[in-house]
Amino acid sequence: MSGTDGSQGSSPIVVILGRQGSGKGTQSDLIVAEYGFVHVSTGDMLRAAVAEQTELGRKAGELMDRGELVPDDIMCGIVADRLGRTDVVEHGVLLDGFPRTTPQADALESITADRGGIDVALNLDVPVDEVMRRMLDRGRSDDTVEAIERRLALYEEQTEPLLEWFAARDLLAVVDGVGNTDEVFGRVREVLEGVLARR
Ligand code: AMP
Repeated sequence: MSGTDGSQGSSPIVVILGRQGSGKGTQSDLIVAEYGFVHVSTGDMLRAAVAEQTELGRKAGELMDRGELVPDDIMCGIVADRLGRTDVVEHGVLLDGFPRTTPQADALESITADRGGIDVALNLDVPVDEVMRRMLDRGRSDDTVEAIERRLALYEEQTEPLLEWFAARDLLAVVDGVGNTDEVFGRVREVLEGVLARR
């Protein structure tokens, strides 16, 4: 098959967004199982670096403990490197936790420019009161109402401009994240089928 948009032969680049408690982890697992994309979670990569006590881990660990972001230049380097690896080039990627800022989104756009760009950003949309209820239900000790509110506010602050960034490029797909796992995955699949069919 030949394409005219330069994306021929390239693999999908899919971004997943969603606040804590949105079911993003569960839906990510289902997506990679169904479509074979490589799941690249920058949070997981950073936690691994912390556990291995690499130089990156030492730099990132403190920032993560304080709930702050790791600087954009570091993150963009890590992701550029990861997206250049054979598995991603062959199977495509589900990016989870990146981009977190608009400079990161700009970087992702240029990293992927020669392979047809970003395909779609799925935003798993669950209202704040619903995620609050879900997180309190799971009863983890760090899930106090205050801590949850702080994390949600931070997420909102960071993510709102990103939603606009994707929407401005017609790359944003808002998926209703309320319902059971299968219902939500059905909606995710519908979006992805549409996106993949248009490539
Ligand atoms: P997560 O598991 O995605 O919530 O990430 C855990 C922590 O890792 C975040 O609170 C940040 O400190 C850091 N982190 C993960 N991804 C990024 C990113 N794209 N940019 C900056 N910091 C990040």
